[in-house]
Amino acid sequence: MDEKRDEPNLSYRNGISQIQLYGEFTTKASRKVRYAVSLTERDLTVQKITSAPAGRSKVVFNLRDCVGCRAFKPDDNTDVGAYFSAYFYPFKKRWMSSGVARQRTEQCFRVASGLDPHLNLEEAQRWARAISEGSAHQRPQRNGVVYSEVCRPCKVLLLLNPHSGKGQALSLFTGHVQRMLHEASIPHTLVVTERQNHARELVREADLTKWDALVIMSGDGLLFEVVNGLMEREDWEEAIQTPLGILPGGSGNALAASIHHYAGSQPVSSEELLVSCGFLLCKGLVTRLDLTSVCLGSAPQPQRLFSFLSLAWGFVADVDIESEKYRHVGAARFTVGTLVRLASLRVYQGKLAYLPAEAAAAASTSTDTPLCPASSSTTSEVPSAHTHPHPTSSSPHGFCSSLVCRSSRASPGQNVTHTFHNYCNSNNASKAKRGRDRPPLAPALGRGRAPDSLLVPLDQPVPSDWTVVPEEDFVLVLAMYQSHLSEDLQAAPDSTLEDGLIHLFYIKAGISRATLLRLFLAMEKGAHVDASCPHLVHAKVRALRLEPYSAKGTITVDGELVDYGPVQAQVHGSLARLIAS
Ligand code: ADP
Ligand code: MG
Repeated sequence: MDEKRDEPNLSYRNGISQIQLYGEFTTKASRKVRYAVSLTERDLTVQKITSAPAGRSKVVFNLRDCVGCRAFKPDDNTDVGAYFSAYFYPFKKRWMSSGVARQRTEQCFRVASGLDPHLNLEEAQRWARAISEGSAHQRPQRNGVVYSEVCRPCKVLLLLNPHSGKGQALSLFTGHVQRMLHEASIPHTLVVTERQNHARELVREADLTKWDALVIMSGDGLLFEVVNGLMEREDWEEAIQTPLGILPGGSGNALAASIHHYAGSQPVSSEELLVSCGFLLCKGLVTRLDLTSVCLGSAPQPQRLFSFLSLAWGFVADVDIESEKYRHVGAARFTVGTLVRLASLRVYQGKLAYLPAEAAAAASTSTDTPLCPASSSTTSEVPSAHTHPHPTSSSPHGFCSSLVCRSSRASPGQNVTHTFHNYCNSNNASKAKRGRDRPPLAPALGRGRAPDSLLVPLDQPVPSDWTVVPEEDFVLVLAMYQSHLSEDLQAAPDSTLEDGLIHLFYIKAGISRATLLRLFLAMEKGAHVDASCPHLVHAKVRALRLEPYSAKGTITVDGELVDYGPVQAQVHGSLARLIAS
């Protein structure tokens, strides 16, 4: 046979990747056709050995799209060969529709260099190791974002809510995620939650040294449980550093849609979004995540919660809760809910105030002496405004009541160093080092349970550098700290995981139904922000206060119903860590 192919050039230099491995293999499907396979630090190139002109039958797989590679023995005992399979998830054009989405491609080769099965297996393992290591080194690069990696092998505790979304999270897990985790050699333990707050209790009590990451497969509600469970622990400061991961299995998959968007990928939904987030999880890059503390001042017990996504009142909060009954349609429940609520559009009265981000930045450069040192408390509930006589306390578990005193007004997160080492060089070393190698937290977060240095008690007027909104009639108030409000609504297109900002939106009463509908339609592409709608206001803030006038109503935090009443919130930059890219 006249075989034509690109000769392997083992001495590429000057910016072109050198070939690290070269081999000629057949596949599982056919031993008749041979392939020339070469590996560089960036690509795996597969070329069919044929008489056709060279280059025609060449396919190049970027290791950036690879989640792993495994070597294995054949099922057939008489076969002396061994195999290696590399698993890629490149963006490919969708069948029968426009746009691209990550789609799985397996490249499996049979190694049969000689008649010794052991030597063949060793050769297959050498390829699998080289491809896996190469793919681990090929990371996505985004300007201004610095990553660390989860441990390899990474042990994952995966929490799954079987009732989330259309009730298919478990079958989506077995249909997609299980295989991806196997391909990426990620050992995991699956816990299917049995009731609401099961995951919250579990992570509150768990021995976190057993896990390198906590991954939830559900909507945003289950992650809200996990974040708050971690913050309720005695060792909250270390616990909240555990890398978190999210796989969309719910109907409100806003954080999953946000991390997909931050990765620079075209919008996708449903199972394509799951594959995309599964891919990011397998790549295992960890970045910082802002959390916002939310203080609910309502009787009988004031509460303090931590939120990673949103705080909503008015139209959006009502749709969140009312659309529960359309859960069977999955993510489309918000579209249905929006249309229903539009038909009965109403006005919500209350008082809104916020600390603009620029004002907070200016204040943080002042040399004010802190007025609110950390106090001693082991719960995440806000102590009463009248019971805060504490001077400085060195208690690692104390926190400064936001409702009681005002601190240096330092911008939270401002001193966080955005570079950190891969603290997981080895499993055991990582656990010992976890505390030491962590980047320094901002001073305000280092003492107490993330004290709210920007807030004053709800029964006191907001500080003078806050903006008090003159209007008191609203259609909605929405505070976002991620880009997406749902899979297909980009409410805060400029938001990032760790910008230390709350993107506050409010819509003033007087907007027509048609204009409001147009805004929601524009939100699919994030275009509402530039729509010059006089009723829509967008402000980048660090803290806010909302005091609804009505006795009854709905407020949601991360899509979850919380106690109704006056509420204030402050962003804590980079408090948690998230697997994303
Ligand atoms: P969805 O996006 O579909 O609403 P979520 O993850 O937000 O999915 O979960 C919805 C609600 O279900 C949340 O309030 C969460 O706390 C709660 N939950 C979690 N596990 C369970 C369970 N096993 N049974 C019932 N509710 C649960
Ligand atoms: Mg943000």
